[in-house]
Amino acid sequence: MLEKMADFNQEKVIEEFEATTKAAERVQIDTLKKILEENGSAEYLQNLGLNGRTDPESFKNCVPLVTHKELEPYIRRIADGDSSPILTGKPITTISLSSGTTQGKPKFVPFNDELMDSTMQIYRTSFAFRNKEFPLGNGKSLQFVYSSKQFKTKGGLPAGTATTNLFRNSQFKMSMKAIKSQPCSPDEVIFGPDFPQSLYCHLLCGLIFRDEVEFIFSTFAHSIMHAFKTFELVWEELCTDIREGVLSSRVTDPSVRTAVSKLLKPNPELADLISNKCSGLSNWYRLVPELFPNAKYIYGIMTGSMEPYLKKLRHYAGELPLLSADYGASEGWIGANVNPKLPPELATFAILPNIGFFEFIPLRENIEDQEPNFLCMEPKPVGLTEVKIGEDYEIIVTNFAGLYRYRLGDVVRVMGFHNSTPELKFVCRSNLLLNINIDKTTEKDLQLAVEEAGKVLGEEKVEVVDFTSHVESSTEPGHYVVFLEISGEASEEVLKECCNCLDRSFLDAGYVSSRKVKAIGALELRVVRRGTFQKILYHYLGLGGAVSQFKTPRCVGPTNNLVLQILCGNVVKSYFSVAF
Ligand code: AMP
Repeated sequence: MLEKMADFNQEKVIEEFEATTKAAERVQIDTLKKILEENGSAEYLQNLGLNGRTDPESFKNCVPLVTHKELEPYIRRIADGDSSPILTGKPITTISLSSGTTQGKPKFVPFNDELMDSTMQIYRTSFAFRNKEFPLGNGKSLQFVYSSKQFKTKGGLPAGTATTNLFRNSQFKMSMKAIKSQPCSPDEVIFGPDFPQSLYCHLLCGLIFRDEVEFIFSTFAHSIMHAFKTFELVWEELCTDIREGVLSSRVTDPSVRTAVSKLLKPNPELADLISNKCSGLSNWYRLVPELFPNAKYIYGIMTGSMEPYLKKLRHYAGELPLLSADYGASEGWIGANVNPKLPPELATFAILPNIGFFEFIPLRENIEDQEPNFLCMEPKPVGLTEVKIGEDYEIIVTNFAGLYRYRLGDVVRVMGFHNSTPELKFVCRSNLLLNINIDKTTEKDLQLAVEEAGKVLGEEKVEVVDFTSHVESSTEPGHYVVFLEISGEASEEVLKECCNCLDRSFLDAGYVSSRKVKAIGALELRVVRRGTFQKILYHYLGLGGAVSQFKTPRCVGPTNNLVLQILCGNVVKSYFSVAF
């Protein structure tokens, strides 16, 4: 395995992918068989009466659809130190923490070597296709990656975010080297204990190696945008460090200081060059290609809840392509982006049929003989090769890390097929619905409404920095609240119009009709102080989340008290819509 990780043969990887996806149906049957054979001794499966059967029909008949809630007691026992085969044949020895941005607190999920292997398979596959279109030399990458602290569970198992577990895996570094993804920053920066210090050092290391930087990366695009926003504030200090060859006193962690200081030599020419470039830019447009003249692209997950940051990223990127990364979760990977040339708005993910067994719950209402499925009690999932182009589905995962028919909570749309495997577009989280009456508002609906409101703000050259929403049910009737952080001052008139525009832009028929009959109250726009969403980011980091995995929650539920408090405590202005 180690040898396989270290070598990288682009053509071979593509060939393997083509073969696996051509035989997707058979590969799915074989994969399920393998998962059930390897884990047949697990208590969870033993109790379900499969009795050694490994075919899809028996599997579907015996194994129930579950969410994290049903698996939690099993995962809890593993975390508490019970090393008997509970979910998997081989005991789970590491726990991942999902970012938990939607529920408010991180969830524990199993992590094992098989998950590590499938992660690398996804990375290698998308890299092979990416490198075909945008070949890299032997340079470096500026990676805004951060490993959060690993801690021990009650039972002594190491636990950390999935990205942390990856970074700390001994095979990871070698595998990343094979796919030309060597970071500019030393490990001490990635593993540094303080996020702002690590971010500052990532920027500094990027500048030191500016000519070698071939691409800019972070797991989620939010971190890339956040990094360059920070650059706007600290660039002069970075130039001083480079000019004098002395690291700023803001970096206090000894190991980070030592590692970065080793790279830093007085370089007044470089400092002047960067300073001149920054001074010459208009509102930081094209910052990235100016700083990194040999960069070929910016790479990270840019779909789903990251889409609202594309505008800002494009501003920094200028003509540099934005390449959207793969699709997966702490629970496991799903698909690779094998069409890297498509803009992020059109990015799709081809499922790798050998990393898990995938099922899909159709969501479209009025499918013949089928009840609306969103809230349906007994959804009837279809198989990987049975999905239909243009339809939306909730995705169900069975994998090598102890998840069986697990509802991931994501809605995906089938855009086409690569050979026999579906190419999915990420639509939204399924549980992120604003719902008061008969309305069903998704994360995507909210995003589109905020985009419309952004156009109104654009009249005053003000932009939406970030946003989220909430259902206010303490009023009768309840109403939607949209929290907006904006980049500057907007007039009362524009903000009032922005509020009306939001209300008008939720197009769900249930919402519109409920608003008309006042079964849902007037939408409320609450403008929050600059920096509020940064406070939310820090709140999640305080819970043990990693910056690399951070996603702004687009809907803050009543149980997510602390985030709601941060938002409500920072409201500077609020408006009620008069659109209806
Ligand atoms: P986490 O809880 O941190 O493991 O995040 C996993 C979730 O992030 C997934 O269930 C998706 O909702 C979201 N996600 C992951 N990859 C993508 C992607 N390529 N596009 C959109 N959303 C994604």
